[in-house]
Amino acid sequence: DSKTTIEAVTTNLRRNEDSGYIGIKNADLIRSVVEALRERQVDTYFDWVKGHNGHEANERADQLAKQGAREPQPEQGPERAPSKWRLTGAKLERMMQSLAYRAIRERKSAEVGPRRSTEVVLAEVKRDLKRAFNSSRTSERIWKDLRKKTVTRECAQFLWRAMHNGYMVGEKWLKAGIPDHLKVRAICQECDELKTMTHILAECEATGRREVERLLASLWK
Ligand SMILES: [Zn+2]
Repeated sequence: DSKTTIEAVTTNLRRNEDSGYIGIKNADLIRSVVEALRERQVDTYFDWVKGHNGHEANERADQLAKQGAREPQPEQGPERAPSKWRLTGAKLERMMQSLAYRAIRERKSAEVGPRRSTEVVLAEVKRDLKRAFNSSRTSERIWKDLRKKTVTRECAQFLWRAMHNGYMVGEKWLKAGIPDHLKVRAICQECDELKTMTHILAECEATGRREVERLLASLWK
């Protein structure tokens, strides 16, 4: 029910971040909310509702706010979202360097429209199916495959969205409107490569991916 809060994480966000939240009330709370929204990695839409008007979720939020106000205040302010992105010093400098030239190189691909990016992914899927299994699948067939009983619902949803380029990864962080300090998310900190879905799933040198691959291979046998 607070227009100020909605504006703080939407229309005023850029200005606040550019100015370092100087003179902004509840800056810590706003930044926590912004971090949480960004961690969702999807677009979030806000719908303002009239306060104290019997709206179920609004009443519940009021209750939680009252409850929170009664609790002892932590000394460091509210728990911040994971700090893995709060880079400092040499690491940040190195990443900003690799970003600078990548940003220019990738600008074109970031501007590719949603429909076209799905076609690009589909073309890659077809190429890889051909390479790995010598199978020539049509687009229709590939979408149908996602609905097979052997594919779990979660897996199908993930693949569907990944194929529509619906995850906030890679060059999406280089789009206009993303503040500079967030653009580093476009790059894999481990490999210094553009962190696309392909990189995350198939190329990344971080330990997690190799482990998943090893488990998959043993499952397959
Ligand atoms: Zn990587």
